[in-house]
Amino acid sequence: MLENGWQPHPFRQFLLKVHSRCNLACDYCYVYTLADQSWRSRPMIMAPDLITTAAERIAEHAARHHLSSVRLILHGGEPLLAGPAFLRKIVETVRAEVDQDLRVDVSVQTNAVLLDEDTLRCFRDLNVQVGVSLDGGRRANDAIGASPTATAASPPSPVPFPCCSAHRSGICTAGCFAPWIWPTNR
Ligand code: SF4
Repeated sequence: MLENGWQPHPFRQFLLKVHSRCNLACDYCYVYTLADQSWRSRPMIMAPDLITTAAERIAEHAARHHLSSVRLILHGGEPLLAGPAFLRKIVETVRAEVDQDLRVDVSVQTNAVLLDEDTLRCFRDLNVQVGVSLDGGRRANDAIGASPTATAASPPSPVPFPCCSAHRSGICTAGCFAPWIWPTNR
């Protein structure tokens, strides 16, 4: 390939799985509904030292390849389960670690159920773009079992469950398989 003029290009996009669980239960979800159930034994939330390590590696890579910008994608599971403070910490850690001339464009991919005012303010402050995963209108979303009410037109109350704050902090003693968190299959 090199002989034919192909040139390798350094990675410019980094996707972080910041929270490994989801607050919906789409019946087609490749993460939770197929044979590989290894997600059950994985940590719910990205470890703090892993955030630091990821930031250092991104900075190192960008400097080595003289990049002028990189893209950081906050992904899951459902990344908003991590909470806005945690997401802010990730973004600020990466931006603080890289060279000051390097632009870090950040986006988040979410099902939008937890997209409340605090979260939107956080994203506005940090200039984080928001990508929303939808399967169409209300009928299409309801049909795939995302949630009986989880649509853009009438979102349910943000995580109306008793241990949601503990889940966000990653210290929930109820366990991440609690039926009131994932009523269908988690
Ligand atoms: S919102 Fe996405 S991650 Fe969550 S269950 Fe549906 S497909 Fe899976």
